[in-house]
Amino acid sequence: MSTSTPDIGYQDIFKSSPAAILIVDIDAPYYTILDANDAYCRATNTQRCDMVGTSVFGTFPGNPTDEVSRNIEMTHFSFQQAIQTKQSHTMHNYRYDIPIRGTDEFEERYWTTTNTPILDANGEVRYFIHSPANVTELYKLNQKEQAGIDALKNQRQQLYSSFMQAPLGICIISGGDLVVQMANDSYLELVGKSRSELEHRGIWDAVPEAAEAYAPVLNKVIETGVAFFAKEHEVTMIRKGKPERVFLDFVYEPISDVAGVNNAVMVIAIDVTDKVVARRRIEEAEERARLAIDAAEIGTFDFDPVNDSVVTSDRFNAIFGFDGARPRDEYRQRIHKDDLALRQAAHERAMETGKLFYEVRLVWPDDSLHWIRVQADVYYNGADKPYRMLGTVLDITEFKRLQQQKDDFISVASHELKTPMTSVKASMQLLERLVKTQPSSDRIPVFLEKANTNLTKMQHLVDALLNVSKIAEGQLALHKTDFIAAEMVNECCDHVRLIGTHELILTGDTQLQVHADKERIDQVVVNLVNNAIKYAPDSNKILLHIAQTANMAKISIQDFGRGIPPEKLPHLFERYYRVDASGVQFSGLGLGLYISAEIIERHGGQIGVDSVVGEGSTFWFTLPLKSN
Ligand code: ADP
Repeated sequence: MSTSTPDIGYQDIFKSSPAAILIVDIDAPYYTILDANDAYCRATNTQRCDMVGTSVFGTFPGNPTDEVSRNIEMTHFSFQQAIQTKQSHTMHNYRYDIPIRGTDEFEERYWTTTNTPILDANGEVRYFIHSPANVTELYKLNQKEQAGIDALKNQRQQLYSSFMQAPLGICIISGGDLVVQMANDSYLELVGKSRSELEHRGIWDAVPEAAEAYAPVLNKVIETGVAFFAKEHEVTMIRKGKPERVFLDFVYEPISDVAGVNNAVMVIAIDVTDKVVARRRIEEAEERARLAIDAAEIGTFDFDPVNDSVVTSDRFNAIFGFDGARPRDEYRQRIHKDDLALRQAAHERAMETGKLFYEVRLVWPDDSLHWIRVQADVYYNGADKPYRMLGTVLDITEFKRLQQQKDDFISVASHELKTPMTSVKASMQLLERLVKTQPSSDRIPVFLEKANTNLTKMQHLVDALLNVSKIAEGQLALHKTDFIAAEMVNECCDHVRLIGTHELILTGDTQLQVHADKERIDQVVVNLVNNAIKYAPDSNKILLHIAQTANMAKISIQDFGRGIPPEKLPHLFERYYRVDASGVQFSGLGLGLYISAEIIERHGGQIGVDSVVGEGSTFWFTLPLKSN
C-alpha cells in the first residue's frame, strides 16, 4: 500500500491557522516580513498589507514600552540562535504593546514567541516562522500570584523583624524535645547567652541554672495547654559567666498547630530587676526612716487643714497618752489650758511662714504633766493655700526636767559659792581693820583660820565643778598603780579624825591590794565619808570595810544616819541630784556621788548603796585587784 500526500493547500492552512504566524526572511539585520496570517493580524491589530515587505522591527513604531530596544536585541539574538542551531528558539514573557485601531493608544500585551527556522532541501535555513502567542492573561495572573507571594514573604519578614527586635524577650521552644527553635535578641540578653549557645539546643542544657525552678512549670504548660504567668520571679542567671540575681515578669504561652495540638511553647519574658530594685530601695529607705523615727521616739503626723483631719503615728498617739488614733479634738483637749493660746498663735504663724514650732504641756487623765515639742512644715498648693502639714512631736519632759535641774543647780551653786565668799570677805575686812588698829590682836589668827576654812570650801566647790566639766568632755585621765586599799582609806580620813565628831572603824582585809588611780579613789572615799558625816550628824561612828569579792575589792562606808527613801535611790548618782532639792537642811551641789560614780565606772568597777530610812546607809564600790 502506498501512502500519498493528501492534497493539502499549505497556504490555506497557514492562512486559517489559529496560531499567529509571520514568515520572515533571514536577511539580517532587516528580516523582511514575507507573509502574515490572519491570526497574526488579529493578535497584533495590524493589517497584512501594511506589513508584508517591511522589516519585522518596524511593526509597531512608537511602541510605548521601555523595553522596545531590549526586545529588538532579544529578537535579533533569537533569530541568530535559530539560524545557528537550526532549531526553534523561544522568547518568553516579554512585553510588547499593540496599537488600538483607530486611536494613537496602545494596549499592554505580553508575549511568548517562537522563532522556527525553515530549512531548504540542502538543510540551509531559508525563513523563519515567527509565531507569537499572547500570554498577557497568564502573565498577569502570574504577576498577581507573585505579588501575593511577595506580600506574604514581606509579612513574614516583618513579623520576624518585630519578633527579633521586640523589647520583650521571646523564645520558642518545641513541645516534644524542648529544643529552642528561635530566640530574639532581648531574650538572649536576658539569659546572658549567645545565639549559638541557645538556639537549636535543649532549653535546660542551654540554661541549666533555671531548670530547677522552671522545668516543672514548662512541663505543666505543655501537658495542660494552659498558659503560666509569673510576676517578679527572682532567679539567678549566669550572665557572661557570672551569677546575677534578676527579677522577671514572664509568660509560658502554649502554641498549637493547625490541628490544635500543642507543639511548642512561647516564652515571653521581661527583666524587671531595675524596677524591683528601685522599689525595694524606696521601701528600704522608708523602713530606715521609720526605724530612725521610732528609735528617736518621734511621733509623726500628717494634717489636712482643708478637711481639718489628721493622720497620726502610734508613737504620736502614745505621747498624747492614747493607745490608738483619736479625732483631732481629743488631742487638742490634752493640751494644758494655759498653753492653748500659745499653740493657737504658733498655728496661725505657721500658715504664713510655712514652719510650725511650739512647746506645750499635756495633761493626761492621771493628771501627770508631759512636755511636748511640735515641729512641722506646711505645704501650699498653686494658689498659696496650705493643703498639708507634715510634722513631728517629741516628748521633752525629761529634757525640761534636766533643764530645770540645771537652772536649779546654777542658783544652788551660786548660793554655795556665795556663802563662803561672803564669809571670806567679812573676815578680810575685819582683818584689815585689826591690822591697822590692833596689829597684835589675838583675833587676827582666828579670822585668818576662818578665811582659810572658807577658801578651802570654795576650792572644793570649784574642784567639783572642774571635775564635772572634765567628765563631760571625757578628759578624766587615770594614772593607775598598785596600792593597799586600807592604807589609802586611813590616810584620806585623817581630816575626820581631826574634827573628832565621828569615830572611824576600819575592818576587813587590811592587806588587800588594788590597781587604781590612788588620788581619784581617795577623792571617792572622801566624798562618801564626808556625806556619811554630813547626812548622819546625830550618830558618832562610821564603819569602813574592805573585802575581796570574786576578783574585785569591795570597799563599803556605813553610816547610821537618816537613810534614803527607796524611790530616791535610782537617781542618787545623777548629776545635780539632791534628795532634798531645796537645800534647806543640807548644803551641797549634788555632784559628789555623780563624780564618784564616774570615777568608779572608769575603773571598770561598780558603785551602789543600800539604805534603810531611819537606820542609815551603806555606800559601796568595787575596784580591780592588783594583777599578779
Ligand atoms: P551633795 O551632798 O552635794 O548634795 P552628793 O552627790 O554627794 O551631793 O549626794 C547627792 C544626794 O544624795 C545628797 O543631796 C543627799 O540627799 C543624798 N546622800 C548622799 N549621801 C548620803 C548619806 N550618806 N545619807 C543620806 N543621804 C545621802
